[in-house]
Amino acid sequence: MAVERTFSIIKPDAAARNLTGAINAMIEQAGLRIIAQKRVRIGRTEAETFYAVHRERPFFGELVDFMISGPVVVQVLQGENAIAKYRDLMGATDPSKAAAGTIRKTHAKSIGENSVHGSDAPDTAAKEIAQFFSGNEIVG
Ligand code: ATP
Ligand code: MG
Repeated sequence: MAVERTFSIIKPDAAARNLTGAINAMIEQAGLRIIAQKRVRIGRTEAETFYAVHRERPFFGELVDFMISGPVVVQVLQGENAIAKYRDLMGATDPSKAAAGTIRKTHAKSIGENSVHGSDAPDTAAKEIAQFFSGNEIVG
């Protein structure tokens, strides 16, 4: 299996509830290494660009408003099969459908305020990492 990098966001609901450390512990426990991390406030245009794939969905406005509602923690995670591994650790989008032991089952408040984002494929991972980090901020 290949060593991959994936992009993660600890979303405003989780950052506001002081869950950065608890979520980071779950990430590290799963065998992923946090090779870049910063706490930022995402701007409206930046959020619209990031979630552009969902522009036509009925929840798009709500999603953008939520993502800019407070600080987030953006991260690059590295490890064997990191993209799928982190998606598994996150659990289903709707926390009521997420498996036990996943981040969303443990911490998420709702399908919208669901605590974490993770890239869904190698091309989106590369694009998302480049949107938030310059090369010298990532130390693998
Ligand atoms: P993410 O892309 O944030 O990692 P995901 O891939 O599990 O999550 P997507 O289908 O890409 O889910 O949806 C992106 C985000 O939009 C979700 O994480 C959630 O915050 C929000 N969202 C998705 N579906 C709904 C919905 N029905 N109502 C409100 N918000 C939603
Ligand atoms: Mg997604």
